[in-house]
Amino acid sequence: MDAEPHSTTDLPPPPTAVGAGGLALFLDVDGTLLEISETPDSVRVSSNLTGLLRRAHDALGGALALVSGRSVEDLDRLFRPLILPAAGLHGLEIRSRVDAPVTGHDLADDLAQEKDRLIAEFIDAPGIVIEDKGPCLALHYRRNPDLKAPLQAAAEEALGRLGGGFQIIAGNMVFELKPAAANKGSAVRAFMATGAFRGRRPVMIGDDVTDEDAFGVVNDMDGLAVCVGGRRPTAARHGLADVGRVHAWLQDICGATPSRSLD
Ligand SMILES: [Mg+2]
Repeated sequence: MDAEPHSTTDLPPPPTAVGAGGLALFLDVDGTLLEISETPDSVRVSSNLTGLLRRAHDALGGALALVSGRSVEDLDRLFRPLILPAAGLHGLEIRSRVDAPVTGHDLADDLAQEKDRLIAEFIDAPGIVIEDKGPCLALHYRRNPDLKAPLQAAAEEALGRLGGGFQIIAGNMVFELKPAAANKGSAVRAFMATGAFRGRRPVMIGDDVTDEDAFGVVNDMDGLAVCVGGRRPTAARHGLADVGRVHAWLQDICGATPSRSLD
C-alpha cells in the first residue's frame, strides 16, 4: 500500500483503547480497506489483509461486516477464501452471518433497458466504464474526467425515465443509479438488530459520500463514525488519513502484531 507517512486529517482518530470487545465494526472496502484503483476489477487483496480481517472478525466475536457498493458475490471473489458478513450494492444485499444466505432486492430488469441505452451512448467514449451490478448501474469516469458532465446528464435522463424508485449517487469518479429503498445506513441498522452485532457499539469506517448514511446511523446509536481521507463535509467525528492508517487501527484494536507489512 502506498500510504503517505505524513498525511493528516483534521478529525481525531478513533480510540484504540476501547479494544474489540464491545464494538460492532462496519468497513467500507474501496478507498477504506483497499486503495482506489482505476477500474473496480483491477483491485487485488493481499493475504496479509485477509488475515488481518479474519483476526478482527474473530476478536469482535463475529461482529464485523463489509459494507460496500460492490455486490456480495464480488466481495467474496475479492477476499477469497475469506467469507465475512457483508452488505453489498449500498445495502440492497445483506448477509448477516458468514453462514447465512444473501437477501436482497431484485430490480435488475428495471435497469436493463437503461444499461443498454447508456452502453450504446458511451461505447465510443474512451475511459468510460459502465459496470452492471444487477440492480445498480455504476458509470465510472476515473480514466476520463472530461466526460463527467455528459455522463451525469445521461444518468439524470435515465433516472427521469426510471421514475421515483431510483436515485443517483455521485461517488468518487462514479455516478451510480440505484434503487432508493436501501442505503449503507439501513444496512448498518439491519446488522445491529441481528445476532453477533446486537447490543454492541457500532463503528463505521468509510471514505465516500455513500458512507454518510451509515455515519449518521452510528452517530444516532452513540457509535463512532470514521471518515478516511480528506473529503469534507462529513458527519463523521473521527478521521483516519489513509488506507494504511485503517489497517494500523484494525491491528491495534484486535491485538495483532503491528509490524507486519500489508503490501
Ligand atoms: Mg469507499
